[in-house]
Amino acid sequence: MSETAQRSTTLQLEASDVRLNVRVASREEAIREVAGLLIANGKVAPGYVESMLGREQQANTYLGHGISIPHGMPQDRELIRRTGIAVLQVPDGVTWNPGERVHLVVGIAARSDEHLQVLASLTDVLDDPSLVDRLATTNDAGEIVASLNRRTSLGSAGLGDEFAEAPFVDVTIVGSGGLHARPATMLVEVAGRFASEIRVQQAGREANAKALASILKLGVEGGQTVRLLALGPDADAALAALREAVESGLGEGEAHDAAVTSEGPSWLPVSTARAIMGVAASPGLAIGPVFQFKRARLVVEDRPRERDEEKLRLREALETAREQLDVIHEQVKSRAGSNEAAIFRAHQAMLADPDLLDDVYARIEDGHSAAWSWQRTVETRVSDVQQIGNATLAGRAADLHDVGQRVLRVLAGTEEGEPSLPSSPAILVAENLSPSDTAKLDPNLILGLCTVLGGPTAHTAIIARSLGIPAIVGAGAALLELPDGQTTIVDGSLGALYVSPSEADLASARAAQAGIAQRRDLENESRFAPALLTDGHRVEVVANLGRPSEVEQALQAGAEGVGLLRTELLFVGRSSAPTEEEQYQAYAEMARNLNGLPLIIRTLDIGGDKSAPYITVPAEENPFLGVRGIRLCLRRPDLFRTQLRAIYRASTAGDIKIMFPMVSTLEELREAKDFAESVRQEIGVPPVEIGMMVEVPSAALMADELAPEVDFFSIGTNDLAQYTLAIDRLHPTLGSQVDGLHPAVLRLIQRVVQAGEPVGTWVGVCGGIAGEPLGALILTGLGVAELSMSIPSVAAVKARLRQVSRADTRMLAERALRCSSAAEVRALGRSGGSGGE
Ligand code: PEP
Ligand code: MG
Repeated sequence: MSETAQRSTTLQLEASDVRLNVRVASREEAIREVAGLLIANGKVAPGYVESMLGREQQANTYLGHGISIPHGMPQDRELIRRTGIAVLQVPDGVTWNPGERVHLVVGIAARSDEHLQVLASLTDVLDDPSLVDRLATTNDAGEIVASLNRRTSLGSAGLGDEFAEAPFVDVTIVGSGGLHARPATMLVEVAGRFASEIRVQQAGREANAKALASILKLGVEGGQTVRLLALGPDADAALAALREAVESGLGEGEAHDAAVTSEGPSWLPVSTARAIMGVAASPGLAIGPVFQFKRARLVVEDRPRERDEEKLRLREALETAREQLDVIHEQVKSRAGSNEAAIFRAHQAMLADPDLLDDVYARIEDGHSAAWSWQRTVETRVSDVQQIGNATLAGRAADLHDVGQRVLRVLAGTEEGEPSLPSSPAILVAENLSPSDTAKLDPNLILGLCTVLGGPTAHTAIIARSLGIPAIVGAGAALLELPDGQTTIVDGSLGALYVSPSEADLASARAAQAGIAQRRDLENESRFAPALLTDGHRVEVVANLGRPSEVEQALQAGAEGVGLLRTELLFVGRSSAPTEEEQYQAYAEMARNLNGLPLIIRTLDIGGDKSAPYITVPAEENPFLGVRGIRLCLRRPDLFRTQLRAIYRASTAGDIKIMFPMVSTLEELREAKDFAESVRQEIGVPPVEIGMMVEVPSAALMADELAPEVDFFSIGTNDLAQYTLAIDRLHPTLGSQVDGLHPAVLRLIQRVVQAGEPVGTWVGVCGGIAGEPLGALILTGLGVAELSMSIPSVAAVKARLRQVSRADTRMLAERALRCSSAAEVRALGRSGGSGGE
């Protein structure tokens, strides 16, 4: 008992910790005020304000009876200078959540457990509504101080007799902070999921495990053992879940916090540098001067020469542009991989568009110059497409403009209209970057990238990740006001651009950069080791590939196989479909090079944003909702059969599995399977594992029915998020909201895993979130067995998984499922952790 008495003398509230008669209009304002008081009293660094606001997003800190206890996030403990409490008295009250009116805001900054006594006293205050009323209106700060410094009676509740025979478990509270507000909140959350009555007993005292105030009142310290008792229909399950929650630290404890919630060394400015927030697109920290990227539009006048001469000039210009694009394609392919380079093949296809060329030649025939005719035709096309107002087509319009300017520059024999690029290292700021712009970037000179528009799946984001350049997209027009040369810090993990940082900020950011580089080196060193969690649970980490030649690169990066081969990349950028023999050679070569490691071949997923000129589908208003993926294959048995024959022929060369894309109904799946089976019998080879992508909400919702029909599911979270949230994943302004970590998508994933379990259908994820460290942890917690990602993400994800236990990930997943937005889920990871596809 004397220990409690000692603690009570450690933290003594003083009148300066209390601010009377405060008026605030909102919960946020209240939190800012109380944090301000903690800052003013030297208890915390300025960044703690954001930490407290972030914490409130994760958990409701309303305690009851007009009292709230806002506090910071565990990983921000280093911002606390001294454990301390600050109290705001708000006589008029402030709405904390609908129906919850707060009159005493008790802000807590706790490095260890000295504040427990104050919390325990608070719960005594709670028990006395008239005291709460008095403290809410008193003009004497001393009265509040005395109430909170008062030694509490602690053991107010006696042991309930009805629990005498109840099943129980004894667990030890880990972490130095004991059962203070954060872990107690988590305990209450877990207990609240069960119907049983649950009690916590310790040293002859008892608390209701579903009531935060009751638990706080026990004042349990780190290292102490408590008894958890449950009475009711799900008592055993409740005790098992609670035991697991306590053993994995209740979201608390240094090791746990660092392992689960923090994505690498988080960095926050020491001073209050101005921050422009955007979408975290490529992780890492960059420091450098702003370079505003501007692209002038080249315009030519009509100065025609002989018709034939103009026609020849056009042909030559098109050929030169085609050659330029060949070079760019090869450069981007070797720097960033085939997927990213494919866009330049599409640009080449635009140069050969017969309708477009007919129009240009017709204008030349009418007596105009080649340059003017080309400019006119392309501009008309671009504006026609833009007017349709379809986001995918808008993307194509931007590409067409890009190609148009390229040819125009050749025709005009000028570099005018070429964007200027920095000649010394800089942070590139742009409204948006076209694929051609991005291809020109020299990673040695571009330290970081920030764009006004775009989302995490935008081309810029993907390229930046492949090149390892920290990037933020969708940061808004404020970016364009920054003067050239202005020093900034880009935090691509958090999605923040800090403007005019202080010397101290720069020094600490440089130190953090060194830490990140060191961490990357360590991740790389261990890339060949399996992703074994601390309890031995293994997660398979495999790669998403587009071309056979990428196998070596994937294996070198530590991938344990191929979780998704996007075969459509074998079909695009050519004038006819690859033959059975060509496909067979490609698949068999990959299987051989993988040397027994799995190779999941996804059958053709053309449609939506992916097209091949020789696979024509009738024009569709909404290609993403049209003949796409398996729907197309079932309508084109010629293509489907050729591909399946090639796959089955190659299947004896290694561990090949077949996967169907975009399945939305049971009938489609059965039809595809029957078709595949007939091809298999034709070839006469043993069966292979058959799986399907889950990327349409109907498939996730019908997973119970689909699971017995397949060997595995692979969840395509890029499309699943697009269809669940009803936002085009390429939408220029809404695209950033297509987030696979949205709780709506996570709940569908949970459903798929639960459907697979009873029938032994394993579940993988091959969408972008599998390659984000935070996403990988949450997916593991949801029970996903295999994570398939872009090659550069493999080492980091493996390293991250090795730091946690299965229980940690489960807990994180449970918290994520309870969040109400993607932003809240991302806040659980604190610094975003981008890095997927
Ligand atoms: C997905 O939709 O998440 C996926 C992996 O498929 P793709 O990105 O090729 O459509
Ligand atoms: Mg998809």
